[in-house]
Amino acid sequence: MKAIFVTETGGPEVLNVVDRPEPRPAPDEVLVEVAYAGVNYIDTYFRSGSYAQELPYIPGSEGCGRVLADPAGEIAAGTVVAWHDAPGSYAERVCVKRNRLVAVPEGIDLPVAASMLLQGMTAHYLLFGTRETREGDTLLVTAGAGGVGLVLTQMAVSAGAIVYSVTSTPEKAALAAEAGASAVFGYDDFAAKAREATGGRGVDAVFDGVGKTTFPQALEACRPRGLVCSFGSASGEVEGFAIQELNKHGSLFLTRPSIGAYVASDDEFRLRAQAVVRAIEEGSLRLRIHEPFLLDDAIAAHTELQARRTTGSVVLKVAG
Ligand code: NDP
Repeated sequence: MKAIFVTETGGPEVLNVVDRPEPRPAPDEVLVEVAYAGVNYIDTYFRSGSYAQELPYIPGSEGCGRVLADPAGEIAAGTVVAWHDAPGSYAERVCVKRNRLVAVPEGIDLPVAASMLLQGMTAHYLLFGTRETREGDTLLVTAGAGGVGLVLTQMAVSAGAIVYSVTSTPEKAALAAEAGASAVFGYDDFAAKAREATGGRGVDAVFDGVGKTTFPQALEACRPRGLVCSFGSASGEVEGFAIQELNKHGSLFLTRPSIGAYVASDDEFRLRAQAVVRAIEEGSLRLRIHEPFLLDDAIAAHTELQARRTTGSVVLKVAG
């Protein structure tokens, strides 16, 4: 089968297209023909070596496609399924844990199905797992026109929250506003703008997936006893954080969460996955898919994502 294969960590150029043996499903897995693979920022951390990764490996963890074989005979061949946690998804075939996939309803397009779970469930746990987001809450999200950013904005607005979004260009600002953001700020002074918008108080929670360049302002933007969720590091890791900063900014709560801990049980996975699928089916959540890249063009997909030139969710077209 055709697959992207990484033998050494580095820039996007280490994403080689090769021929690899087809994987064989374990008893708790099904074999799937991948239609589209989701491309997520975390894929770039593993590729570059900033997150530990055994080499060689096939990147990717998310996607959608048709079941080819289920050793347990529970899922019919041909069923269209989506997943968020199947290592090796940048390939024509992948094995997916049977209890970690969802059937894709007919009305959901394949590129949407391929990218809905990781970013969708992340937005869901950030809003309803790290805290209980309610009507009237004021929230701030950085990279607001990115994959997670656009989904989180729509979900928060559906829950009645007021969202302030931070983006780098007028085009991205327009997308954030379309997703429901009440106001969109630039990176230079978003903390001051967020304070101004909340009558000097600061927002109830900040969701920051940018990291190094935004974290100091994330603390500034938050109200006393509010929550700062530092959930990613697109600009680099936050370094040298002194715990007294939380005191100085008014007894803040800080968390550095990860999706794994919020979908640890099958029940929690199903609850969040179903919430995402339902929101898409009802039309309250619309995924914006960046023009799909071919599997052969994985280098371009990573290059564009890291150069901040993508909006919404990024996918690789593998088949179908
Ligand atoms: P995005 O589509 O949001 O892409 C990253 C965005 O970050 C860019 O488009 C850009 O938007 C912004 N950005 C700001 N500064 C930089 C920089 N120096 N270099 C590159 N990008 C920058 O990606 P995802 O939706 O896949 O992920 C968003 C974040 O969420 C990532 O940090 C990711 O690791 C994290 N994440 C965390 C999870 C968790 O459970 N902890 C799960 C899923 C994602 P702009 O131009 O507007 O600034």
